[in-house]
Amino acid sequence: MDALLIVDFQNDFTPGGALEVKGGDEIGPALNAIADRFDLVVATRDWHPPDHGSFVGVEVEPERWHGIDPPGIWPPHCVQNTPGAELHSSLDRSKVDVVVDKAQDPHTQGYSSFHGGNLAEVLRERGVDHVWIGGLATDYCVKNTVLDARREGLEVTVVKDAIRGIDVEPGDSERALEEMRRAGADFTTSEELLAERAASAARR
Ligand SMILES: [Zn+2]
Repeated sequence: MDALLIVDFQNDFTPGGALEVKGGDEIGPALNAIADRFDLVVATRDWHPPDHGSFVGVEVEPERWHGIDPPGIWPPHCVQNTPGAELHSSLDRSKVDVVVDKAQDPHTQGYSSFHGGNLAEVLRERGVDHVWIGGLATDYCVKNTVLDARREGLEVTVVKDAIRGIDVEPGDSERALEEMRRAGADFTTSEELLAERAASAARR
């Protein structure tokens, strides 16, 4: 069973948002085009409480912090129930079957979509064994979601034209792709996916 997993395609990660990813708004058409191919489409949202420890200026008890990066390094973003946390308007919501809210624990960044929500249960319940992944951002939430999906024993294919990176350091996204590849992820493009689908329809 195949699922499309759309990671954190939210207003705050697109141009004009609180934690803007360059070109982050450009992935909508690719995601909309491929969504119909999948039995299940899941969109995750970064869904932080207002006092989330990843935010600049929030007091964190160091002994409770268990994020993979230090606390306080990001501007406040994707605060629960704010417009910035909504899915980007270019995503056709009618194609999304399930929305999973993640990263609600204030003591970790919760980069991975498997963190602080019920994504693993949703996928297990539906018998998903292969996830195709797009979303934001390549070098943080997409990367950590891919690595966790592999740890969950899932086959993973990353849709390269449906992701964009932050690149705090130049090359971060390239290095992230390499790390995903080493973890056993495959790569494709929305065009390849659509061509495959047209070919299998023609055979029928
Ligand atoms: Zn976040």
